Amino acid sequence: MSTEVAAPGPADRPSRLEQDGPDHLVIHWSHGPRTRYPVRAIRLACKCAQCVDEWSNDPLLDPASVPQDVRPLRIEPVGNYGLQFEWSDGHGTGIFTFDTLWELARSVGEIHA
Ligand SMILES: [Zn+2]
Repeated sequence: MSTEVAAPGPADRPSRLEQDGPDHLVIHWSHGPRTRYPVRAIRLACKCAQCVDEWSNDPLLDPASVPQDVRPLRIEPVGNYGLQFEWSDGHGTGIFTFDTLWELARSVGEIHA
């Protein structure tokens, strides 16, 4: 793991998504690096209005309610700024911006040059 890898610029985006084993996702970025995550950690980091209180920022999602084997069923691009995940636990309203996905790799994932 390296923190020296250049963060994505405004024009950079995920260029390819890859399933890595049963429970990890790898994002290949257009500027070269890869980020790798446990998929459940992405689910738990959802910041949509159902998962985080819009006013207080308090978490509304009980992590215990998210199955250990939760999986993304579908991942769709949203405009040119994010990805929307449809999850096996029925949740599908969360959009992860590219910036969020990059920051998430720093906190719960890995960044590879
Ligand atoms: Zn959510």
